[in-house]
Amino acid sequence: MRRDIERVLIPRQRIAERVRELAARLAADLTTALAEDGVAEPEGHIVLLPIMTGAMVFTGDLIREIPMKLSIELVAVTSYPGRSLESKGAAMEAELPDTFEGRHVVVIDDILDSGRTMQLVQRLIADRSPASVRTMVLLDKPARRAVEIKADYVGFEVPDEFVVGYGLDFDGYYRNLPDIATLRHDITGAEAPA
Ligand code: 5GP
Ligand code: MG
Repeated sequence: MRRDIERVLIPRQRIAERVRELAARLAADLTTALAEDGVAEPEGHIVLLPIMTGAMVFTGDLIREIPMKLSIELVAVTSYPGRSLESKGAAMEAELPDTFEGRHVVVIDDILDSGRTMQLVQRLIADRSPASVRTMVLLDKPARRAVEIKADYVGFEVPDEFVVGYGLDFDGYYRNLPDIATLRHDITGAEAPA
């Protein structure tokens, strides 16, 4: 696996530090939101919604830094069918559960690229009368945005390159790489930059 890597963009230690910061900010904001609601206990009020499968690793680390009672629902969206490096739009793989009404929802994804995936999920949640919807992504690739959307919490901005690791895959592999990295062009089949 390591020999397929071209360059490490974000090493695991930096990711870990940033995840702790994001968790602290999110926990503080949710605490404020609950106080404004006049709610004393978070139980039943907070739902995290990671978009599978890319957000799996990020969410696993994030939730262990949030010392609040919260629940997790999963949602799966397809945007990169097969080996393609290009987004083909976003589609839900299954119906969303019906458990968002009156709750503070945090949609989590690995990366905001064209923005279609996050926009789709955000809209579907907004239709279900939540108390609030927040969006969090580990990575943001603003160069490729196709729809107007910004995440409320962003870990790192990345250049317009295809990245893998820490949950992000190529052809289903490299999700278990602990760093964020680019792949050699002979692996992705992408043309090498001139
Ligand atoms: P969007 O709908 O914003 O175009 O795409 C978001 C989804 O595309 C992400 O959840 C992720 O699965 C995938 N994606 C976008 N950019 C990259 C990338 O650089 N590397 C990998 N592995 N997946 C990406
Ligand atoms: Mg994804």
